[in-house]
Amino acid sequence: MKPCVECGRSAELGDNWPSLGGPVCVFCEAQLYAAQLEPEPECLRSYGGDGNCRGGVTYRASYAGTGTRIAECSKHQQEAAERDQRLRQVYPDTPTPPSWFDPTYAGESWNDDY
Ligand SMILES: [Zn+2]
Ligand SMILES: [Zn+2]
Repeated sequence: MKPCVECGRSAELGDNWPSLGGPVCVFCEAQLYAAQLEPEPECLRSYGGDGNCRGGVTYRASYAGTGTRIAECSKHQQEAAERDQRLRQVYPDTPTPPSWFDPTYAGESWNDDY
């Protein structure tokens, strides 16, 4: 039995992956397929990669609690968290958004229930 080209283990082999140079084990294969399904996310605020991003890009839940997933780098997640906290301190429970509130900014809406 040939070892997996990805992890080197002699395990049950799955498909041949030409990009890796041979067959990988079923464990690695599952991970590879999962990675294909969910490609590396791009930061929502990178605007075509203007170099403002720092850290890895991960998904977070929208602060509006709508279940929307927002991909952001760790720097922009930090900024969004601080911004959200500031907004809730200044406008703790206002039914109408302030005039400067832009619902398109992060795909979030004002005063949604948690
Ligand atoms: Zn493997
Ligand atoms: Zn970013």
